[in-house]
Amino acid sequence: MNQKIDKIITRFPPSPSGYLHVGGARTAIFNWLYARNKGGNFVLRIEDTDAQRSTQDSVDAIFDGLKWLGITWDDGPYYQSQRTDLYLEYIQKLLDSGNAYYCTCSPEKLDEMREKAMSEGRKPKYDGTCREKNLPKTDNAVVRFKAPLHGATVIEDIIKGHIAIQNEELDDFIILRSDGSPTYNLAVVVDDITMGINTIIRGDDHISNTPKQIMLFNALGYKLPLFGHVPMVLGGDKTRLSKRHGATSVTAYRDMGILPEAMVNYLVRLGWSYGDQEFFTIEDLLEKFNLTSIGKSPSVFDMDKLLALNADHMKAAGAAKLKDLVKPFLDKAGIIPPEGIDVEKAVETLIPRCRTLEEMAEASRFYFEDEIVYDEEAVKKHMKPESIAPVNALIAKIDGLEDFSEANIDKVFHEMLEETGLKFGKAGPPVRIALTGKTASPGIFEIIAVIGKEKTLSRLKKAAAYIENMGQAKN
Ligand code: GLU
Repeated sequence: MNQKIDKIITRFPPSPSGYLHVGGARTAIFNWLYARNKGGNFVLRIEDTDAQRSTQDSVDAIFDGLKWLGITWDDGPYYQSQRTDLYLEYIQKLLDSGNAYYCTCSPEKLDEMREKAMSEGRKPKYDGTCREKNLPKTDNAVVRFKAPLHGATVIEDIIKGHIAIQNEELDDFIILRSDGSPTYNLAVVVDDITMGINTIIRGDDHISNTPKQIMLFNALGYKLPLFGHVPMVLGGDKTRLSKRHGATSVTAYRDMGILPEAMVNYLVRLGWSYGDQEFFTIEDLLEKFNLTSIGKSPSVFDMDKLLALNADHMKAAGAAKLKDLVKPFLDKAGIIPPEGIDVEKAVETLIPRCRTLEEMAEASRFYFEDEIVYDEEAVKKHMKPESIAPVNALIAKIDGLEDFSEANIDKVFHEMLEETGLKFGKAGPPVRIALTGKTASPGIFEIIAVIGKEKTLSRLKKAAAYIENMGQAKN
């Protein structure tokens, strides 16, 4: 059978009243992946009809966030603020077909209506005063949608299932304000129709708008798109993720040194699953993402999980790529790798020990800065007068070494152990502190191979002098 399948068209329609929130980014990613997976189109639309709250800075911040995540769109960006004429055209269609009407009820009258309904224990809603009056357009009139009075409006949600809303619960909502501006739900539906959107994945905070939008689709005679309402992202205390829980802007994670592929991976897994697989490359996601495995219950944003996943993505990225990515973080930390040091090799040794690029930059300090500051606790524990023996013996060995391969360094280090009769557990720590200032670091041989003969010798000699001094101070 030759059944025609429509090209999938999804959208991301942010309201530009702030940065790109992680929740918004997640729905953007879902729509983008789905469109890509199906060979469809992904549309970007800026919902900037609220002139009070929309700013160019927010638009730029949203672009910035999307760009960082690697999300590209095929159509748009459209700006709702530039599409008023189109919205007016559709409002006229609704008026012409008898699906909308002018209403001249004054604000006072509406207040009265509301109070009366509340005092009678009813839900406040428009009572239909102008519904059948067929009023002409006048200065202060609004346009209301003539909503069905009986029956139910049904959402067949691909995530939440079948949801029926009794039409009696809804009222004749306004689609054109008295100042001539179209309302939100009207604009969204006109956009979704004219942009050919057939798949709408959005946060379930919008579910209360969906029945109104469905009614508009029906009245205008268009096929309904597929709806999927994704549960919210929560903080640790199970309330909606907000600043109280930590950073909610996507780019704040970039600035902490999270890799974009890790962020995408994490956000997708926050609400979507593929067996028990946790690690996904972008290619993997593009191939495997589907709408059927989006979870029904809300997920909790877990920073530790994100960090662990980022560590895995850093390993996958490899030193050649990370050495460039860590550069801005080195700059921020005021660390300038000196000439002649192999940054890629240094980065390579740090990969297993760091969860973010920011941590990597900080951890790399001892490689690139000559001033080694000894950690006080480390000194107390491992720098004893007798620690001078392995340090001095290693100085002699390194002095005579020409080929600074890790294998060679390993060899002379073990010769030193034999000569001094010390175990690695005794000789290693003072050497490590001499080289890095700390008790935890990449392997000693790796470090020596990276910093080379001159720096190794000067650090060991400085430590020897320090230990000697320490002995004298005690005597
Ligand atoms: N502009 C809405 C928002 O930023 C999205 C509405 C929708 O997806 O239909 O939350």
